[in-house]
Amino acid sequence: MGHRVDHEYDYLFKIVLIGDSGVGKSNILSMFTRNEFCLESKSTIGVEFATRTLQVDGKTVKAQIWDTAGSGARWLRELRDHADSNIVIMMAGNKSDLKHLRAVQEQDGLAFAEKEGLSFLETSALEGTNIEKAFQTILTEIYHIIS
Ligand code: GDP
Ligand code: MG
Repeated sequence: MGHRVDHEYDYLFKIVLIGDSGVGKSNILSMFTRNEFCLESKSTIGVEFATRTLQVDGKTVKAQIWDTAGSGARWLRELRDHADSNIVIMMAGNKSDLKHLRAVQEQDGLAFAEKEGLSFLETSALEGTNIEKAFQTILTEIYHIIS
């Protein structure tokens, strides 16, 4: 008897994907939330979001992930200048499957991330590499700053 009044999750965390157009933000989102990859994805117009609920450190966390249309500003500078100071920033180097077209050496990515104090993972939305791990990492970092 009685109503179930429990929420279906313990926390709602918001994540915003930013980066230049074409780097794979929309596919990272669709892979993580729907297990879908699209070779000919349309460019994103405005903002869209999708959600997925998962376990983070034993808590049920609903991740609300916002996908943006890239506009080519200096991303890290913009974030540091305009976003709340208690955000968590992570850098993903996507398309790691395109080995012959590598544009940034892994150690250069790591060195940059370390200098800027960011977590860093190389991902592939196409192969699904490190997509789960990237979201788990950032959601865990968010959980740790609020708990
Ligand atoms: P967005 O503009 O950042 O949202 O980029 P999209 O997700 O629309 O992807 C742009 C193009 O890159 C599309 O043709 C995707 O199929 C492709 N793409 C996205 N992620 C990957 C990836 O991890 N590997 C490869 N090889 N292609 C990808
Ligand atoms: Mg997009």
